[in-house]
Amino acid sequence: MTTISTNLQAVKRRIIEACSRAGRDPADITLLAVSKTFPSGALREAHAAGQRGFGESYVQEALIKQAQLADLDLEWHFIGPLQSNKTKSVAEHFTWVHSVERLRIAERLSAQRPAGLPPLNVCVQVNVSGEASKSGCTPGDAAALCQAVARLPNLRLRGLMAIPEPGAGSAAENSALARRQFGMLRELRDRLNTEGLTLDTLSMGMSHDLEDAIMAGATLVRVGTAIFGERHTT
Ligand SMILES: *Cc1c(COP(=O)(O)O)cnc(C)c1O
Repeated sequence: MTTISTNLQAVKRRIIEACSRAGRDPADITLLAVSKTFPSGALREAHAAGQRGFGESYVQEALIKQAQLADLDLEWHFIGPLQSNKTKSVAEHFTWVHSVERLRIAERLSAQRPAGLPPLNVCVQVNVSGEASKSGCTPGDAAALCQAVARLPNLRLRGLMAIPEPGAGSAAENSALARRQFGMLRELRDRLNTEGLTLDTLSMGMSHDLEDAIMAGATLVRVGTAIFGERHTT
């Protein structure tokens, strides 16, 4: 077995163990492999080990890999900050966008989604930590943004996404902090579902905190490092 397939097995075991502690069904958790900065060969290996969904944060890099992997049946998720000048490429080449944080971007994605494709699945990213540096709309703006996004014709609003703040305390303190912030996202989703929306996705949890996310109700975890190894960013 390659390292990537071994790592994938280990992540799947972590998901299963977290589900058993949380009393949840592992079939309700989607594993997204976050492949940003890794070459297409690494994605090919992950695909050979059974992985189908891949998360990318940089549009140009993703388009190159998509062309190199066009022979495979992969599902592409855009998870990075999205500028207006990149919405067209994303609308044309991805199945999901997790990082919608303003209406203007959602409107462009809907207008630019090609007619022959099914609606683009989107999550609204919420800044649950309140850190100034973090992407995402404020929790207070989320309801209005979600209601507006849900009305756009070529998008399908699936749920919410968040990245909690990295804790600076002990492992137990960091885990409690992450769980509180994941819990906020879950409560927000539950409340929006009482206000007429039908959100089935909570995109939360990464390599270091996927257990906390699953305890708090995640339906999709975005895992990079634990599958592909450390990223060496330039
Ligand atoms: C890079 C990234 C991840 C993966 O993080 P790891 O810690 O490597 O698992 C998940 N979500 C988003 C939005 C990312 O940018």
